Amino acid sequence: MATHTTRMLIIGSGPAGLSAAIYGARAGMLPIVVQGLQPGGQLTITTDVENYPGFRDVIQGPWLMEEMQAQAEHVGTRMLWDTITEVDLSDSPFRAIGDSGDVYEGDTLVIATGAAAKWLGVPGEQELSGKGVSACATCDGFFYRGKKVVVIGGGNTAVEEALYLTNHSQDVTLIHRRDSLRAEKILQDRLFAHPHIKVLWNKAVDHFVGGDTGLIGVAMKDTVTGESSVEPTDGAFVAIGHAPSTELFQGKLQMDGGGYLIVEPGTPKTAVPGVFACGDVMDHTYRQAVTAAGTGCMAALDAERFLAERDFAASKA
Ligand code: FAD
Ligand code: NAP
Repeated sequence: MATHTTRMLIIGSGPAGLSAAIYGARAGMLPIVVQGLQPGGQLTITTDVENYPGFRDVIQGPWLMEEMQAQAEHVGTRMLWDTITEVDLSDSPFRAIGDSGDVYEGDTLVIATGAAAKWLGVPGEQELSGKGVSACATCDGFFYRGKKVVVIGGGNTAVEEALYLTNHSQDVTLIHRRDSLRAEKILQDRLFAHPHIKVLWNKAVDHFVGGDTGLIGVAMKDTVTGESSVEPTDGAFVAIGHAPSTELFQGKLQMDGGGYLIVEPGTPKTAVPGVFACGDVMDHTYRQAVTAAGTGCMAALDAERFLAERDFAASKA
C-alpha cells in the first residue's frame, strides 16, 4: 500500500477531470488523476461525437478520450488506476482512500466523478446502445434527421428531449408508463401543442427490437390492459433521469435534491475551501463534454489560485 501526494488530486478521468489535469499540470501542480471504473468517462461508451469543437469530421468518443488522456500525461499528469472509496475533507491536505488500499493526499481536491444516465435495464438496450438506442438527444439527435424517433420518460428531461428532436425529425413519439407527465406545465403545453409529437400513454417498454443494421422498434406492454405492441422506430432516447456519482461525498459536501454537488454560482468552488467540483457531477442542466471540460479548466485555475493565496499567507505569517 502506497501513499501518493500531490498539489492537486483529481477524482475522475472524464473530460472534466482530464481538462483540470491539463491546466493543473501546466501550472506545475503535478496532478494525480484517479481514474475510477470508467477511465475516460461517459464518452467511452458512445461512438460518433460531432459537437466537440476542433474537429471538422465526426470523431469517436473513445478516441477523443484517449487523446485527452495522452495530452494530460504529456504535460505531466500522473494517471493512476484506482477507485476512491472514502474521502476525508476535514482539512488540507485532503485524503482519499482507494479500492487498492492506497492513500491519496492532495493540497487541493478536484471532484470530477460525473453522472450517469439511468437506463431501463430491459433486453436489447445495451446491445443496441449506439445503434439506435441513446440517452442523449443533444448528442445523437442529429443522426436521425428525417427519421422516426421515440423518447421514453415523462419528466422534464423527456419532454425537453422530445421537443429538441423536432429540430431533426417530424415524427417524434413520447412513450410514458403512466397517463400523466411529471414535467412542468409549460413544457407539457409546448409538447401537446407540437404538430410533430404524439404521446403513447400507459406503455412500459418491454424490450428493444433489433434488425440487421440496428434498432427497428420498441416492444411495449400497456400498463392498464396488458396488451403488447411494437412501435417501429429508427431511434430511441431513454430519458428517465440521471444519477450523479456523489455517494462518496454524502454528509461531507452540500448536494441538491437530485444529489448533484452544490457549488458557488458561476464557479467550481464547493463550501470547503480547496475542494472544487466540475463537470456533470455539479451540472444537471448542460451535461456536455465541452461544458465538463470548461468547468474542469475553471477548477484547476481556482485550485492554483487557492494554493497561491495560501502559500502567500503562510510566507507572511
Ligand atoms: P464522466 O465523463 O461521467 O466521467 C466521470 C469519471 O469519474 C469517470 O472516469 C469515472 O471512472 C470517474 N469516477 C467516478 N467515481 C469515481 C470514484 N469513486 N473514484 C475514481 N473515479 C471515479 N456530450 C457531448 O458533448 N457530445 C456527445 O456527443 C455526447 N455523447 C454522449 C453519449 C453518451 C452515450 C453519453 C452517456 C453521454 C454523452 N455525452 C456527450 C455527455 C458527456 O459524455 C458528459 O457530459 C461528459 O462525459 C461529462 O464529463 P465528466 O468528466 O463530468 O464526467
Ligand atoms: P424525473 O423528473 O425523475 O423524471 C423521470 C421520468 O422517467 C418520470 O416520468 C418517470 O416516470 C420515468 N421513469 C423513471 N424510471 C422509469 C422506468 N424504469 N421506466 C419508465 N419510465 C421511468 O427525471 P428528469 O426528467 O431527468 O428530471 C430530473 C430533475 O431535473 C427534475 O428535478 C427536473 O425538474 C430537473 N430538470 C429540469 C429541467 C428544466 O428545468 N428545464 C430540464 C431537465 C431536468 P413516472 O413519472 O411514472 O415516475
